[in-house]
Amino acid sequence: MISGIRALFSRKPKVVTRFAPSPTGYLHAGNYRTAVFSYVYARQNSGKFILRIEDTDTIRSKKEYEDNILESLAWLGLPYDEIYRQSQRGETYKTYLEKLLADGKAFVSKEETGRAEVIRFRNPNKKVKFRDLIRGDIEFDTTELGDFVIAKSVTEPIFHFAVVLDDYLMGVTHVVRGEDHISNTPRQMLIQEALGAPAPIYAHLPLVLAHDRSKLSKRHGAQSMTHYRDAGYLPEALLNYMALLGWNPGTEQEIFDLGGLVKAFDISKVQKGGAIFNEEKLRWINKEHLKRVSKTDFVREAKARIGSSDRARDLGWNVTDDAVLRIMPILVERIDTYGDIDKLIFAQDLDYFFSEPVYDAVSLKWKGEPDLSSAKKHLEHVRAALSALPDKKWNEEAIKAAIWPYAEKEGRGPVLWPFRFALSGKEKSPNPFSLSAIFGKETALKRIDEALKKCAHANTNQNV
Ligand code: GLU
Repeated sequence: MISGIRALFSRKPKVVTRFAPSPTGYLHAGNYRTAVFSYVYARQNSGKFILRIEDTDTIRSKKEYEDNILESLAWLGLPYDEIYRQSQRGETYKTYLEKLLADGKAFVSKEETGRAEVIRFRNPNKKVKFRDLIRGDIEFDTTELGDFVIAKSVTEPIFHFAVVLDDYLMGVTHVVRGEDHISNTPRQMLIQEALGAPAPIYAHLPLVLAHDRSKLSKRHGAQSMTHYRDAGYLPEALLNYMALLGWNPGTEQEIFDLGGLVKAFDISKVQKGGAIFNEEKLRWINKEHLKRVSKTDFVREAKARIGSSDRARDLGWNVTDDAVLRIMPILVERIDTYGDIDKLIFAQDLDYFFSEPVYDAVSLKWKGEPDLSSAKKHLEHVRAALSALPDKKWNEEAIKAAIWPYAEKEGRGPVLWPFRFALSGKEKSPNPFSLSAIFGKETALKRIDEALKKCAHANTNQNV
């Protein structure tokens, strides 16, 4: 019996947090950071995380923005336990507004200007005090607020009233939100008292600022989550980065996955001062997460980007899983985000992995040399050394070991330049050992043969 009662009680989560966005525009990292902190705080307390769409502003709220919020949370991997839409809760607001009116805690006020009537809260004109988890004790004298408006009519509550009533009825225990809401808290606490609702615990997060310390905005670095998704960022990187906007673990560790955040996050360690949004840091964190992505995921994403590019179509590339897997180390080294793969393609820096290089014989010539005879001689040596290398030793280290002493003796430039150029056909590319390893023995030797043919042909034509 007792344990039955306990079970009943324990089913009610002790901590209930919510993310309460207004779908009146695309939300940015400053907004989603609230979702991250609320979610993580709920999870680390075995609590519940609620999504509440605050769409009472029927003119500015748009379905498209709500969809974007749902998509973004799903992408970030922040599932909610319950979802509500304020636009569907009109009856509830009406019931409680009528009750406040009946109790004399609110009154219908005839306005002199604009609307004929509004519902005003009867302000008891007192001091309210709360302990913010981040900012400590905060006290306000509410007298100056006067009898503030809480609804335009019983069916049209305004923000303060809807927020307070919903938090109450949804059992929200911790209100985690941006610092810009601190000034709303006194009004909301007065409404709570009038409703007989317990005050939730507040945690007001520092603002997220652009690099020039202005408020993060469309003009200053504020991008939607789906923008980052489409630009090839990893959701785990955004999550990680947003968690560091105003919080750090107090150790050197900067890379966290969601599980790690749930373990390490401490809401009382959130800083008070504004947090600067730093795109460079985000890219760095993204790269760190890219290094941890599974081969399967990486290949799927990279293959899709390379395979669907114009360049692949124009040059008829055969973009296989195997080919992408082979160049994965090079890609991971050269990109911060998957989007950077598009840049590499555009710069023609992936051409030599999927197409035969196209170049003139003269390019094989190391600077200062009179003709192609040195290139030819060294390529012949390199070819012989490589072809003597057994297939099972075809890896970067073994290839380098087979060529390096010769290059040291003959000169690195004169040996390695034509070797590398034969493989890539480009002024700039990864080193020839790593290229050879990626291409495989057959392709590497074939490209060297092509280069040798070009040398022979050029020498006969004497056009070098
Ligand atoms: N809907 C409000 C906003 O988007 C949040 C309200 C709250 O967190 O209390 O800013």
